[in-house]
Amino acid sequence: MKKTLVAISMALALLALPLTGLAQGRITVVYDDSIPDIGITQLTEWGAVIRWNRRAAAQAGPQISAFFFQHETGHATLRTVSEDEADAYAVRALYNTNPGAIADFIQFEYALGWATDGRHRPGINRAQFVYNYWRSL
Ligand SMILES: [Zn+2]
Repeated sequence: MKKTLVAISMALALLALPLTGLAQGRITVVYDDSIPDIGITQLTEWGAVIRWNRRAAAQAGPQISAFFFQHETGHATLRTVSEDEADAYAVRALYNTNPGAIADFIQFEYALGWATDGRHRPGINRAQFVYNYWRSL
């Protein structure tokens, strides 16, 4: 029941966003605190499943979580595995509604230094990428 409500509210939120993304299919959000990340998006034939780790989100705090959630929504909406495209989507999604989340995310990534998980840019590099894209809008 709760999962259905989340999926419905996500779908409505996506419709409300004035984005040019190629929204395809249905995006379902499933809470899964066992994943080794704050969020993982799996593209499917019919849309996408965002697995969201609420425990990791609570540790990251609401602002940084807001950015990460939009990042995952970017993977799902644009149907891309590109981390840069997903970050750019998050910046566009939060540009008017919550720019503080972008700023907090940049600080968070910057503080990670050159650490990388192998999939994403190293923190400093990712912070610079997000900052540059934000400034370009
Ligand atoms: Zn990603």
